Amino acid sequence: MASSFFTDSSCIDCGTCYWMAPKTFKRDEDASVVYSDPNTPEDWMTSYEALLSCPTNSIGVTDKSLLSKKPAEVFPRLIEDNVFHTGYHSERSYGATPWLIQEKTGNILIDSPRMTSVLKKRIEDMGGLEWQYLTHRDDIADTDLFHDHFNSKRIIHEGDKIKKTEHYEIILEGNEPWNLTSDALVIPVPGHTKGHTVLLYKEKFLFTGDHLAWSHSLGHLYAFKRHCWYDFNKQIESMERLLDYNFEWVLPGHGAPVYFPKSEMKSQLKKCIEWMKE
Ligand code: SF4
Repeated sequence: MASSFFTDSSCIDCGTCYWMAPKTFKRDEDASVVYSDPNTPEDWMTSYEALLSCPTNSIGVTDKSLLSKKPAEVFPRLIEDNVFHTGYHSERSYGATPWLIQEKTGNILIDSPRMTSVLKKRIEDMGGLEWQYLTHRDDIADTDLFHDHFNSKRIIHEGDKIKKTEHYEIILEGNEPWNLTSDALVIPVPGHTKGHTVLLYKEKFLFTGDHLAWSHSLGHLYAFKRHCWYDFNKQIESMERLLDYNFEWVLPGHGAPVYFPKSEMKSQLKKCIEWMKE
């Protein structure tokens, strides 16, 4: 299948397209470029999902008729079990990745996608939203629009309370973990910001916001040293705290989701802490 993808100068180098469709997009200096034509229907579809997720609408196709043949309802896309990637990243959270847990007791949105009519309808079909959990203050984006539509409860830690969030329904306090549901535990991890938290779900999925991510170049888990807005030493302490927990998936705000069996994930986390202390 011939490709016609391109990127334009409005790219903000958020990284979304090159983790979602690494066979098509790559980073070149401070922007994304198309370096290889998708030549299978699967690769074309993945590139199309990256196009839909691009926060700045910087990805296009030369033959627009190709887009009209593609379904709009590709998101939320299943990761595993009942955990989804919602797509439609927002420029207001610098393209951070939003996630969704579909639960009988009420769905949980993790950080905020762009509000689009297609995504809103898809979330309605999946049962709406009970909770909107925010890892930290930078990834709020369209949280209030989703709240207004779904009447969901917004959750953030008081350390990241800003004018925009002071009226949220649940403001967490202190440094103790807090059970959102019987399967979902919010763990305070101050460092990147004062009120950063992560969400551990079913001791399997860890939604990490800007606290922890995967580095392709280093080949291990890492933290954003140059983009730490509060206290990197505290972030190291918070990372050590995570050694008390088991999980298999790291679902970050920036970069690709990563999977390791539990014991290997713990080794990965130790490697990350050693690297942070260097
Ligand atoms: S998703 Fe869009 S803004 Fe982000 S790196 Fe790709 S082209 Fe640039």
